[in-house]
Amino acid sequence: MTIKIKKQSGKSLRQTVEEMSGVDMSLCYQCKKCASGCPVTKYTQSPPSEIIRRLHLGAGDELLESDLVWMCLSCETCYGRCPMDINIPAVIDALRSLALEKGSKSPRGDMPLFNRKFLEAVKAYGRSYDLSMIMGYKLGSGSLMQDVEKFPSMLAKGKMAVLPPSGAEKKVVKRIFDRSKQAKGKKK
Ligand code: SF4
Ligand code: SF4
Repeated sequence: MTIKIKKQSGKSLRQTVEEMSGVDMSLCYQCKKCASGCPVTKYTQSPPSEIIRRLHLGAGDELLESDLVWMCLSCETCYGRCPMDINIPAVIDALRSLALEKGSKSPRGDMPLFNRKFLEAVKAYGRSYDLSMIMGYKLGSGSLMQDVEKFPSMLAKGKMAVLPPSGAEKKVVKRIFDRSKQAKGKKK
């Protein structure tokens, strides 16, 4: 893949990400152990080691449109494998926050909307509820008919529940959301 780096003025993206994540990117010597263990590397155009390298090389806001920013599972495999203890999930979290703040487009679908609908379902039902999340995403994105042919077989195989989940500790989940909101308010 050809990597294009745009010239920047003011504080660099690398400096901003280092401040937000507390990660010293200069420690990375590009051994690529992170990329070889990452479960989504084969689906992305930019594996984690490349994200760090592009920051080394002075990448700007174009990096916020990398697919890994939204595809990262925060599984921390890369962090566990890194010989220099570089917290890549924290770097990706910082890039994701900046992408949201700057309204950068996500390369595959509307990932911010997808995440929002997932969280709204968890908040409402105390657990994930795929049907509500998918309906919310489809209505919000306008992609009403996309993958609709898969729905009957998913139902038949029990991969998707029609009824909302029961038995969740909704009060506990609500408290987590409230605390997260308070913490965000304090940061501002
Ligand atoms: S494993 Fe660590 S040192 Fe190696 S490329 Fe990845 S971030 Fe850099
Ligand atoms: S935390 Fe993200 S970048 Fe790291 S291994 Fe998991 S999916 Fe890959």
